[in-house]
Amino acid sequence: KLHNTIQELKGNIRVFCRVRPLLSGENTSDEAKTISYPISLEALGRGIDLMQNGQKHSFTFDKVFLPSASQEDIFVEISQLVQSALDGYKVCIFAYGQTGSGKTYTMMGRPGNPEEKGLIPRCLEQIFRTRQSLRSQGWKYELQVSMLEIYNETIRDLLSTSKEAVRADNGVSPQKYAIKHDASGNTHVVELTVVDVRSSREVSFLLDHAARNRSVGKTAMNEQSSRSHFVFTLKISGYNESTEQQVQGVLNLIDLAGSERLSKSGSTGDRLKETQAINKSLSSLGDVIFALAKKEDHVPFRNSKLTYLLQPCLGGDSKTLMFVNITPEPSSTGESLCSLRFAARVN
Ligand code: ADP
Ligand code: MG
Repeated sequence: KLHNTIQELKGNIRVFCRVRPLLSGENTSDEAKTISYPISLEALGRGIDLMQNGQKHSFTFDKVFLPSASQEDIFVEISQLVQSALDGYKVCIFAYGQTGSGKTYTMMGRPGNPEEKGLIPRCLEQIFRTRQSLRSQGWKYELQVSMLEIYNETIRDLLSTSKEAVRADNGVSPQKYAIKHDASGNTHVVELTVVDVRSSREVSFLLDHAARNRSVGKTAMNEQSSRSHFVFTLKISGYNESTEQQVQGVLNLIDLAGSERLSKSGSTGDRLKETQAINKSLSSLGDVIFALAKKEDHVPFRNSKLTYLLQPCLGGDSKTLMFVNITPEPSSTGESLCSLRFAARVN
């Protein structure tokens, strides 16, 4: 088989590493520095070195973003993927990393500061802008949003208006939120709320609604959101009136559960179940992306809800980008190393 482009040779999976800045109160002394960036020409902007117990671990990714990288710097690198979704591709962008490493900051940004808007609002603004400008060429786009959470291998509808639907795993009929894929690669989640959207304002309204639903029934919202996967899905249907061309793209933006390993001794009961569910789905995700990258015949999509849900959007001619978020805090070196190893495996 002949490969025509670099992209084909490389497959459609890319990994970007983002190191967040130290926050105030974190150890900023020079001797505590564990992360450095190789300055050799071939590793420039792509390499990262991590020191642990006097040993250097070196990694290379498609791109490494320094702590100084702005939200705009990040968006510039992914806007091509947004265009692909408008062109009819299925796109997944993941944020992977331990709790506190900047996943939600990367995806959502800092509320109330437009400069620090994350990928989700920026992607939507680009999509609505492009939709407007393609109108003169006869293109009409319909956009539909759904948002769900996967917690303990159970789906919750974050756009539901009924309390019952967002309550934890009890009281939900087995058919509810069953995942169905049709022959043309469309995914349907039974009874999941899907909302037609016409502006990025409407989407921000929905994001707020989803944020409120995430906290239902839980006192410690941060605690819970770090233990669940958040999946934002935008379905894009384009139709050109003059050429009668049709496109169906999907953009999935996924803020994954924290990848940290909880100390085994401390986890019992519900907590243990949670940890096992997270470990299972994150390692299943790694297995799936690894199998796709290696072009293996069997891809174990069915091993977790997350990978099964996203099956049509992973592999084939779809495009996947994984952010591995790490913190420069010396006390997190162990976790950072685990995250970098996970990402290096799928890259
Ligand atoms: P996670 O979602 O991985 O648990 P957060 O995105 O909540 O982590 O980030 C943890 C803290 O670090 C938050 O206070 C967030 O505002 C801050 N933070 C993360 N990334 C950055 C960044 N690139 N620049 C500035 N602050 C950041
Ligand atoms: Mg978070």
